Amino acid sequence: MKIAVIGGGIGGLSAALQLLKAGLDVHVYEQAPRITDIGAGIQISPNASRLLLRLGLKSAMDAVGMRPREMHQRRWDDGRTLQRAPLGPEVEATFGAPYYHFHRADLANLLADALPQDRLHTGCKLVGLEQKGERVIARFENRATAEADLLVGADGIHSRVRGLVFGPEKPRFTGCIAWRGLVPAERIRHLAIETASHSWVGPGGHVVHYWVSAGRMMNVVCIVEHGDWTRESWTDKGDVADVLARYEGWHPTVRGLISAFPETFIWALHDRAELPHWSAGRVTLLGDACHPMLPMMAQGAAQSIEDGAALTALLRVMPDDIAGALARYEAVRKPRATRLQQASAANRIRFHLPDGEAQHARDEAMARSSDRSIANIGWLYAHDAASTL
Ligand code: FAD
Repeated sequence: MKIAVIGGGIGGLSAALQLLKAGLDVHVYEQAPRITDIGAGIQISPNASRLLLRLGLKSAMDAVGMRPREMHQRRWDDGRTLQRAPLGPEVEATFGAPYYHFHRADLANLLADALPQDRLHTGCKLVGLEQKGERVIARFENRATAEADLLVGADGIHSRVRGLVFGPEKPRFTGCIAWRGLVPAERIRHLAIETASHSWVGPGGHVVHYWVSAGRMMNVVCIVEHGDWTRESWTDKGDVADVLARYEGWHPTVRGLISAFPETFIWALHDRAELPHWSAGRVTLLGDACHPMLPMMAQGAAQSIEDGAALTALLRVMPDDIAGALARYEAVRKPRATRLQQASAANRIRFHLPDGEAQHARDEAMARSSDRSIANIGWLYAHDAASTL
């Protein structure tokens, strides 16, 4: 079976590796001239890391990934702890795979390096596709074409494949923007920040930060409610002074991190309405192309990796029934991805509550039982997308 994967992001590359390992004839077409990944850090939880480890990537992942000890969520102004939950050895022992933090480019590059060079076609921007009987023909801007039995659109939230198959529809601005910064370790040694997933929540915004690139840099993401987004570009250079102004009155550690940004980029966070279906004929979608989500569960990329695992497992057991495999793929994946889209949206409200009654109730609930405790997070981390079919 010949498969064309459109998009060489974390979803497309990991799907291609999984499909290739299952003996399928896969090629990845990426619009960019080389594999990069915008943004700074990415958290990969055990439900996704176990799938990457099966591809034999452990030593490459360990070389650049950080293993946080815990998740620590705190209040915005006084730094009071709201909840702590383990992410280190206890999580690995319980769920059979570690929790990692990566620089996004490190993860994208290690996936691309694991793919035989002749399987990855960069500089190939998909502009058209056509389904002819049992074949799909993809057309690229550089006039190249590719023919396959199955085409997988892993081309992100602005998916061209989705538009071509299900009709044009623009992503919606969620009302949140993210400023991101990568801070060299030497600039913030005085803050003595532990190897953990740190989160600070406050009125109208929150901040997440963790070490990446073997501890050489701190990834910092500052997300705030913003109102409108009228610019054409959805990612742009920002101004560190604007970030500091927005985080006036926040804890000195948060302000110390922001002050140390060498530069910052703004990211307008978008989502899309739920699609009734993910597949049409011999074309299907995965990752942000079909289920973009806010980052408040840190699961968008993890879910795209799960999509690739489920699709691979189904094509392996139903090689002569692509339509049946795609129907089953959607049936097993959609409810879980939708649950995570909803949980992410709910966390946006929880994390950004103004100080007051609802915030007190939230803090008490977090203190009673952490939503990230081993007992409460099993539904997410224990899931094996390759076998839950
Ligand atoms: P993308 O990463 O968008 O990749 C799509 C690829 O397709 C790109 O390489 C693009 O160049 C290519 N492409 C696009 N159009 C075409 C075309 N026409 N032809 C050819 N190629 C094309 N997720 C987590 O799991 N953990 C986290 O900690 C986390 N943190 C996040 C923090 C922030 C601030 C944000 C915004 C998101 C976060 N996410 C996280 C979500 C995660 O970034 C996305 O869900 C993930 O990158 C989606 O991967 P993808 O491969 O589906 O799409």
